[in-house]
Amino acid sequence: MLAFLLGPRGLNARWGPPVRPAVQQFSRRKRFQTASLRSVAYSAPSLNVREKETEGSVHRYLDAGMGVVVLKRGKARLFREGRNPVVYAGAIERCLSPSGRVLRECDPVAVCDGALAVVGYGFFNSRSMFQVRLLRHVDHAEAAEEQSLPWKFEEDIQQRMRDAVSVREAIGLPCPSTNVYRVVNGEGDRLSGLVVDRVDSTLIVSSSALWCETYSDQIVSSLEKALPSCEEVVWRPNIERLRQDGLEDQETAKGEDETSQGGEPRCDPKPSEGETEEELSSTTAVVEAGVKYAISRFALTRGQKTGHYADQRENRAFIRQLVRQSGSCRQVLDLFCYTGGFALNAALGNDNAAVTAVDSSARALEMGRKNASLNGVAGRVEFVQADVMRYLRGAAETRGEAYDLVIVDPPKFAPTAKALGRATHKYRSLNAAAMRMVRRGGLLCTCSCSAAMTQNRGLFVETVRKAAGELGREVTLLKTLGAAADHPVAPEMRESEYLTVCIFACR
Ligand code: SAH
Repeated sequence: MLAFLLGPRGLNARWGPPVRPAVQQFSRRKRFQTASLRSVAYSAPSLNVREKETEGSVHRYLDAGMGVVVLKRGKARLFREGRNPVVYAGAIERCLSPSGRVLRECDPVAVCDGALAVVGYGFFNSRSMFQVRLLRHVDHAEAAEEQSLPWKFEEDIQQRMRDAVSVREAIGLPCPSTNVYRVVNGEGDRLSGLVVDRVDSTLIVSSSALWCETYSDQIVSSLEKALPSCEEVVWRPNIERLRQDGLEDQETAKGEDETSQGGEPRCDPKPSEGETEEELSSTTAVVEAGVKYAISRFALTRGQKTGHYADQRENRAFIRQLVRQSGSCRQVLDLFCYTGGFALNAALGNDNAAVTAVDSSARALEMGRKNASLNGVAGRVEFVQADVMRYLRGAAETRGEAYDLVIVDPPKFAPTAKALGRATHKYRSLNAAAMRMVRRGGLLCTCSCSAAMTQNRGLFVETVRKAAGELGREVTLLKTLGAAADHPVAPEMRESEYLTVCIFACR
């Protein structure tokens, strides 16, 4: 039995749902309502769409009611050989629509080369930077065969989902020591715009592309088939990213100040009318690399990210191992600790370790304290609610250079490449303030989840070096890490890599 928790609100609602999300019981025979973004009004695309074209094989697609996107000369190899998961406007020569209607957002289309041989199938969206998100690539041999039309995209969604599940199985997920992980990672799983995290038997879907909203029924049903042991799907439209994909909504625009650039709340939203704190604080017990966590209903349905930062799993385990091995990593400071991920691992690495964990979110800290108890380290992890910069300003006087290891895992400072300049200043002052807390010879584990910075890792290392220079200190880079293996990246779209974790020794 799979329960489907509705995407919380209509398009005219604000992020941080004003209405109570509805839970529907779901059985294989019962249909269920999908996320509620269907009401979006799509307009005709601005591209060069011809309604009549007499050229050969495209008629097969047009007659089957499908649109056709014809690539510019030389671009087909990006998709045939390169397997690129998205088509940018610059690669498109023209679009053809089936007669009698215009090509609409999220219509299934065949993408063809200049000779009108099919290269792949995907969903069209003239409003997005990604004009087609390809779900299926077709090679020459396949193209020569007769394709049955129209394209059965449900089968490809299903196949992609099965592939995603088997990639996780190949790396041993889930397993007795980990039942919280990422099942689908957008382009990395050739499902551009779709992210699915698994929290025990609950699947949290974060959709950032209009096609995901339009075909949410098919997505949920393929998840159910690919992961039959899961019982519930929570659908969380990422309004901020959906807007970039062409979602038009006056009301959500007004709510901008309530959302972060990543579509995640900057602060903890309040419960909606009719919802009780008790319901929201009910928890799901999970385990990650042997560490126990309780994840609240609130975190799953509307908290940060999809409730848990699974991307840092391997890095947290690395820190545990490092603390265990070193023996001298005893005083640890975890900045931006959320529910205590790094702090718990550090405490579990050495029975003599004492950890201070700082975050501004009261809800996250409450869960952090629960997690520390669950893992038997409550006496050794102190959770502090504070703004990190303010905390560091105060603590530099009293506890400066007192820590063997300081971990810094801030939210995204550079949501776009344009914002990188300003963000670099922020990273520099934050890292300088954090480094002030590291004893001579101690370690700084510093993270950036800004894709723009990760695309430019050298800049991040240079920024930390400059921060050290400001303090008259010297750093050496011991290790660079990234997101866990359940966050695969399409080699053709390295720009989706976003997490950088650098471990420095500070003198
Ligand atoms: N390290 C965590 C994930 C951190 S996510 C883990 O391993 O799970 C970033 C965290 O920064 C969030 O918990 C958020 O509440 C917190 N945060 C954002 N701005 C902050 C600020 N100015 N001061 C303190 N915490 C902040």
